[in-house]
Amino acid sequence: MSATVRKLSAMLRLVAALLCAFPASAGGFVRDAEIERTLSMMTRPIFEAAGVAPESVRVLLLDDPALNAFVANGRTMVLNTGLLRRMPEADTIIGVIAHETGHITGGHLARRAIAARQVAGPALLATILAAAGAAAAGSADLGAAAVLGGQEAIRRSLLAYSRAEEASADQAAVSYMNRAGVDPSGMLEILRLFKGQEVFSTQRLDPYALSHPLSSERISLLESRIAQSPMKGAPLDPQIDYWHERMRAKLDGFLERPERVLSRLELADEPDSEMNLYRRAIALHRMADVDAALATLGRLLDRRPDDPFYWELRGQVLLESGRAPEAVTAYRRAVALAPAEPLIAGALGRSLLATGAEDEALVLLKRAVRDDPGEPGLLRDLARAYAHAGDDGMAALTTAERVALGGDLDSAARLARRAMGLLPTGSPGWLRADDIAALAPDND
Ligand SMILES: [Zn+2]
Repeated sequence: MSATVRKLSAMLRLVAALLCAFPASAGGFVRDAEIERTLSMMTRPIFEAAGVAPESVRVLLLDDPALNAFVANGRTMVLNTGLLRRMPEADTIIGVIAHETGHITGGHLARRAIAARQVAGPALLATILAAAGAAAAGSADLGAAAVLGGQEAIRRSLLAYSRAEEASADQAAVSYMNRAGVDPSGMLEILRLFKGQEVFSTQRLDPYALSHPLSSERISLLESRIAQSPMKGAPLDPQIDYWHERMRAKLDGFLERPERVLSRLELADEPDSEMNLYRRAIALHRMADVDAALATLGRLLDRRPDDPFYWELRGQVLLESGRAPEAVTAYRRAVALAPAEPLIAGALGRSLLATGAEDEALVLLKRAVRDDPGEPGLLRDLARAYAHAGDDGMAALTTAERVALGGDLDSAARLARRAMGLLPTGSPGWLRADDIAALAPDND
């Protein structure tokens, strides 16, 4: 056994330990090409201003109504849907992102790691699989550090940052926002919100307020620093404003009860604004009113005929109502307009599978999984595409990977052994299956 292989298998054993420490939670994270692109527009300038490589931080959206944001495992920033939906202004969210980035650059996480149970399955494993990939490519130390950071996070419980850490993260955040050209005043909004909560018992405080303790000293320090900001009063990039509004509309459409969305729209000042049409189209889709959803989407596409995400939603409405050939047409348009989005390419692959165009589906899904590894939905579709193509070995391996990500290591190992029986011994797929088979807890 070579040193690299030994390191890798040790790392994989660690993965097994991490997964066992957390109950698997495959769900919980929202994956959406449009929203991820919007979040990246908001995070990238801050990360760059902080000297943090944007590709080195994974930003995840957790479907949780509590107002919270946190950094897990050193390099995974988690934003709750509750934060995005309750904070109406984009600059407040950018302020939270900048503050969390301040905790990363300040090294506060090494001393006070945050164990967030929800980050268990996909996020942690994605980080770890990336680390395993790094190890295979020869930079094992980096990978091991990432994994050990995760283990450290598990050992400690959720702890609040200290006042000194809060002050330093605030100061860093203002610097990053100034450098990124964003007015830092938005940071005060969230503190004002929490100040209003001080009269409540701790149970009713937002988790964010608990882990990022507020003091009047903190507010006045921040106020005086913001008063001197050269960016004070600077308008936000209209592009960020626009996509932020779209994100809010999309989250409302998908997360709120559709009946409630529609009744709220009846009272809206501008029921036919672009954002309200988006809310309506999604709500109608969720109520299975396909014709009305498509008609509403048509109005959005009249306004923005080259919007990949409106075409993507059209594809989704059509595919989920059993109109796969039309879905293919819509998704093709979306992919042509946004060729670098694996989630959309994967959706085209899924609709092609439904029409029987298996060869093209397999090519697209393989590429989507390569570009977005660890996404359970893509793995499920890729396994189906392999099965259609008669490649049972790769179908079993792909399912084993998906099941391992969900945390069921016994089933994953069983599937992996099945894949090993079907794949040529020593082939790349066989070796990956061998790694997964070694993940089973009773495999020592
Ligand atoms: Zn903080």
